[in-house]
Amino acid sequence: MATVGRFAPTPSGRMHLGNVFAALVAWLSVRHDHGHMVLRMEDLDTQRTSGEFAQILREDLLWLGLDWDEETQPQSQRSEIYQTYFDRLEAMDLLYPCYCTRSQLHSVNAPHLSDGTYVYAGTCRNLSDEERAAFGRAPAWRVKVPDQAWTVDDKIQGIYTENLATHCGDFVVRRADGVYVYQLAVTVDDALAGVNQVVRGTDLLSSAPRQMYLQSLLGFPHPEYAHVPMLLAPDGRRLSKRDKDLDLGYLRAHTTPEHLIGVLAHSAGLLDAPAAISARELAAHFSFEKIRGDAIYLDAKELI
Ligand SMILES: [Zn+2]
Repeated sequence: MATVGRFAPTPSGRMHLGNVFAALVAWLSVRHDHGHMVLRMEDLDTQRTSGEFAQILREDLLWLGLDWDEETQPQSQRSEIYQTYFDRLEAMDLLYPCYCTRSQLHSVNAPHLSDGTYVYAGTCRNLSDEERAAFGRAPAWRVKVPDQAWTVDDKIQGIYTENLATHCGDFVVRRADGVYVYQLAVTVDDALAGVNQVVRGTDLLSSAPRQMYLQSLLGFPHPEYAHVPMLLAPDGRRLSKRDKDLDLGYLRAHTTPEHLIGVLAHSAGLLDAPAAISARELAAHFSFEKIRGDAIYLDAKELI
C-alpha cells in the first residue's frame, strides 16, 4: 500500500522552524516511498487563522521544496462532516453533555498530571435530564473513555502507552460554542483522505491514543505514527514562535532552502555533515531509523 502522508499546518502565522522540521520529515518519507502527499489547513480556530496566512504557508512550503499532490478542504468548512461522525458516536451512547466551567475543570480539587493538564473526573456523566435542563445553557460534549491502555508503536519515539481513563478522562469532542475539537476533526480528516502515516511534533504524541480510540469507534484504520523530536537551543531552551529569527519570514530573507535543510538534516541525524542539500536529493537517503528520538540541539547561528 502506498504511503499517504500529510501536512496539517495551522494558518495563524509564519511557519516556525519546528513546523519546518516536522513538514520536512513527513515529505521525505512520502517522497522516498513514492507516495501521496496531502495538504490540509487546520483552521478550526477562525479567530486566529486566515486565508492570507494559508497562502503564505503554501508559498513557504514550496520555497522549501516541499510540494503536495492534493489539498483537501480546510477544517473550518467541514462542520457538517464532523457532525455526521459526532452523531454516530451519540448513537452508540458514548457522548454526554458537560456543563463544567473552566474554573471547575482546573480547580485544585481536580486530579492533575505532572505536566499540569487535568484529568476529567466524569462529573457530568450521570446527570439526570432535570439536572441538565437546570443549567439553562449550551454544554460541551464529551466522549466516554474505557479503562484500557492504548499503545502507539511510533516510528521515531518507539512504544508509547497511555490509559485514557487515568491520563485525561472523558474528553471533549464538541465545545459549548458548537466548534468540533481538534481530536475529532483530525481523526475524521485523516481517515477520509486515506492518510496512513502521520508525522508531527512530539508535543502531539499524547494525542495519538485519543485519536486511536476515536478511530476504533468510527471503524477507521490506525495510521502509522512518527513524532519528531523538539528543537532546542544550545542552552536547552525550547525554540519557539517567540524566536522571530527562526520563522520563515526571517529565514527566507537570510538563507537558502538548501542550507536550511542541510543544517536540519544534519542535526536530526539524516546527514553526516551539514552540507547544503535540496529536499529532493535528501529524500533518496531518508530512513526513520536515522532520526534521533530525543531533543535536537540547534544553534540558530548555523542557520544563516
Ligand atoms: Zn462536566
